[in-house]
Amino acid sequence: MKYKIMIVEDEVELAEIERDFLLAEQYDVLLCHDGNTAFGLFQQYQPDILLLDIMLPGIDGIEILRRVRTESSAIVIITSAKESEFDRILGLGLGADDYMTKPFSIKEMVARVKAQLRRSFYFNEKSSHTEHIIGFQNIKIDLKSRQIMNAEAEIFLTVKEYDILVFLLQHPNQVFTREQIFEHIWGTWEVGDLNTITVHVQKIREKLKDTESIVTVRGVGYRFNGAML
Ligand code: CA
Repeated sequence: MKYKIMIVEDEVELAEIERDFLLAEQYDVLLCHDGNTAFGLFQQYQPDILLLDIMLPGIDGIEILRRVRTESSAIVIITSAKESEFDRILGLGLGADDYMTKPFSIKEMVARVKAQLRRSFYFNEKSSHTEHIIGFQNIKIDLKSRQIMNAEAEIFLTVKEYDILVFLLQHPNQVFTREQIFEHIWGTWEVGDLNTITVHVQKIREKLKDTESIVTVRGVGYRFNGAML
């Protein structure tokens, strides 16, 4: 499962550079260079984010945005060389999520894409496929991107810390021994040091600043206390 980004941009070279940077960030990317095919491709591809140029051969970006908004709440980032186009879009009440004036740096574009995805996954406001987002208390976890956020910032867990947290979270109120956790995460426990689990759980608690959600069941193991969001 990856996030899908569709780029509608008639400057082929620019579109290809954007694509390469987004592919490097592990997104799926679809390119489209003309306005006439853009909406049909959008419907087929169902991207999470649409990067949309305004001045296009064929149907222009504003009309594409209007059609997209009749049926989708996908994140739309408008790109245009003319800032006056942004006012036109606002004037029409079409509503895009972000606007970038050309020329822009590609790194800036990638940063905006990431910021939009973080925001939409934390506030759950856009995504039509929310089954990949789980959480508890003020923590939300995006199973697609393996990102963890609280209300303020992203929280960085190691691969194994993340796997243990999600495993416990997906089995709320069920007690697991350290052997069971080890076996589930590493595939076997016989060669493992069970203290590894203890250390990982401590780290998870520290990083989440939450000592209550993962409960130590003395002499048995751990359980996740409470319900997922
Ligand atoms: Ca253009």
